[in-house]
Amino acid sequence: MDLKKFAKKAGRKKDKLVRFLKKLDKVVPVDLNKLVKEENSAVWQNHDCLACANCCKTMTPTYTKEDIRRISAHLNMTPKDFKNKWLYKDETGDWMNTSTPCQFLDDKNMCTIYAIRPADCAEFPHHNKKPFNLYNDTFINNVDKCPATYELVKRLRKRVEQEYEW
Ligand code: SF4
Ligand code: SF4
Repeated sequence: MDLKKFAKKAGRKKDKLVRFLKKLDKVVPVDLNKLVKEENSAVWQNHDCLACANCCKTMTPTYTKEDIRRISAHLNMTPKDFKNKWLYKDETGDWMNTSTPCQFLDDKNMCTIYAIRPADCAEFPHHNKKPFNLYNDTFINNVDKCPATYELVKRLRKRVEQEYEW
């Protein structure tokens, strides 16, 4: 995956895709979740996270208290030492990585704590959230960072514009 090329393409199309997602806040096509399911399956035929890892390279997960407890225990650290070493608390009180790429990403795009990774990472890119349109802000944030989200939103826009009065 050429992430520089993706960033350029997504940067050019972002406004158009964000307008579509914002409209989904107000107008929800009947069967949206069915459309998402169909298009999401198609998206994953062409995307391989191990050839990408852009989320781990450019974004931070949000760590829950349970994530911090589980991961720090795995690393034989106290939660306090774990937080001091790698995390900061943002303005909303959430624990986030201090820097990117994530400290747990290796040079083969693998997560070195995969089995016990934060719940946020396990759910990323959140395409299975229901109802899909309640997570528009997440997709607006991710549409130029995650190639799979970009492709999903692009496909959804096309389907909705072709099949619904929009
Ligand atoms: S979830 Fe998205 S950004 Fe993360 S590795 Fe997969 S395609 Fe890339
Ligand atoms: S914990 Fe693992 S999956 Fe989550 S951002 Fe870090 S490397 Fe990626």
